[in-house]
Amino acid sequence: MSDTADRSREEGEPRNEQGRDSKVSLAIEGVTKEFTEDDGSTVVAVDDMTLDVYDSEFIVFVGPSGCGKTTTLRTVAGLERPTRGEIRIDGDSVAGREPRERDVAMVFQNYALYPHKTVRENIAFPLVIRKFPDDVVEERVAETVELLGIGELLDRYPSDLSGGQQQRVALGRAIIRDPEVFLFDEPLSNLDAKLRIEMRTELNKLHDRVGKTSVYVTHDQAEAMTLADRVVVMNDGRIQQVDVPEVVYERPANRFVAGFIGEPPMNFFDAEIDHAEDGLRVRTDAFELVLSPSVAETVAERDGADIVEVGVRPEAFEAVAHVDTAVDESRLVEAHVTVIEPMGSHHDLTLRPVGAGDDESAEYTARVSKDTDAVEGERIRLAVDTEEVHLFDATGENVLA
Ligand code: ADP
Ligand code: MG
Repeated sequence: MSDTADRSREEGEPRNEQGRDSKVSLAIEGVTKEFTEDDGSTVVAVDDMTLDVYDSEFIVFVGPSGCGKTTTLRTVAGLERPTRGEIRIDGDSVAGREPRERDVAMVFQNYALYPHKTVRENIAFPLVIRKFPDDVVEERVAETVELLGIGELLDRYPSDLSGGQQQRVALGRAIIRDPEVFLFDEPLSNLDAKLRIEMRTELNKLHDRVGKTSVYVTHDQAEAMTLADRVVVMNDGRIQQVDVPEVVYERPANRFVAGFIGEPPMNFFDAEIDHAEDGLRVRTDAFELVLSPSVAETVAERDGADIVEVGVRPEAFEAVAHVDTAVDESRLVEAHVTVIEPMGSHHDLTLRPVGAGDDESAEYTARVSKDTDAVEGERIRLAVDTEEVHLFDATGENVLA
């Protein structure tokens, strides 16, 4: 719905110059991974996944716990064998290759440094077991610690390091091998919130400097949105959408993506739709909106699109007193304010539709200016940005995406 996305771009193509013209570094081709449980039942952890990752791209898989992120990475690394499908690294099938023969390095959540080795020895280890000559090892260790800014830690032991320093050493152990592809499995999730954000920035800078193809897995959408060239949203073993962060946010492919990306989450309302003279009339228990004729046209083009639900992000509401121009009735909403949460830069309001009585389940969230003089227990008038409204059909697909 937004005009910030580059519409000339093929859907799912990388936006960065480096990606667009460059080779496919990692190809996941129709990969399915099934596990057999003790009782003989089958779990499909990864379900027919196909994805090309371009050279030097930073791809982030995001999805809820259990959706198959780790299994995907382990399959690429060679720690799991796919039930069906194929993995190619730099063009070649890696089916017959052991993990250490694949040109990948993996950084885990539990990065488990060797406690009785120094930082220097920990970082050097991947080269030492591959029998690199001493002078090469020394040179590469020096380059690696310089890159990570941990030169002064070389002779320390892991127990003398902070969590952030340990994580840098674990990164160093991956970087030193100079692999074709980096695989990261929630590498920051053991760190506290502040450090996690610091390390996120570090990883961004590091990727800018090293420029290596990276596949990063997280359940944290903020991490995904800030790190990714392209985001892969997963649920239930399946890819839901692959695109640049802006598009995943502004034009979520389906209800799952719409509800998963964005904080506070998008509000969903059961909706009835009428095609009217002035546009598309959307009726819910919370409000009635008229969407622009262009939206009506898009919906009409989607022959038989059976819209059952409307989605509005909290930030698509604005308190009427703070809207400059006169607001026409077609986008006005009235509600009771049940909770005001001042967030510093803005307020999050919990709202209950006027007709909802004491039905808590009808409540929804609006994110409004901190200057809004909302009062708990009183009514408030809001305007909806009707360009930011999402419509979902019975299958959950976003009709406007
Ligand atoms: P995520 O990393 O997204 O949390 P996983 O890839 O770890 O998800 O798991 C995906 C699904 O596969 C889950 O249902 C999980 O229980 C199942 N699973 C993962 N590994 C195994 C295994 N070794 N044996 C049986 N089931 C597994
Ligand atoms: Mg996992």
